[in-house]
Amino acid sequence: MKQSDTEAMQRCLNLAKEAVDAGDNPFGAVIVDAEGSIVAEGRNRENTQLDVTLHAEIDAIRQATSARGENCLRGLTLYTNGQPCLMCSVAIRRVGISRVVYGAPSGQPSRVSPHPLTDPDFGQSPPPSVESGLLAEESRKIQGRL
Ligand SMILES: [Zn+2]
Repeated sequence: MKQSDTEAMQRCLNLAKEAVDAGDNPFGAVIVDAEGSIVAEGRNRENTQLDVTLHAEIDAIRQATSARGENCLRGLTLYTNGQPCLMCSVAIRRVGISRVVYGAPSGQPSRVSPHPLTDPDFGQSPPPSVESGLLAEESRKIQGRL
């Protein structure tokens, strides 16, 4: 099924709600290919898996690399309702995601400069294009459930 940007972000919000219902933190992520098909979905699983690295983006990246059988996700778009943290930004760059769309800042402003998500000199692939503010109000609301 072809996903528009808004549909993909809505799916992130639904995954974030699933995370909250399960006792995890309110974040979801979806990875979509150039044709608009969902390659992978993820949600925060930090509490239920007792793994602080299991952010929604990491969960989705693991699913995508497993499904594709490779660590390169160039040409794909990652959607998430929160701004990717430092750890997830490094992972996004390592796999070469081409575009990142997030809903609202996560409330933890990064003082890291240059930032790995946007630094042209970080990693082997060019930085993704980054867009924010899609369904920002809904994204902020669900993050308030932390
Ligand atoms: Zn993260």
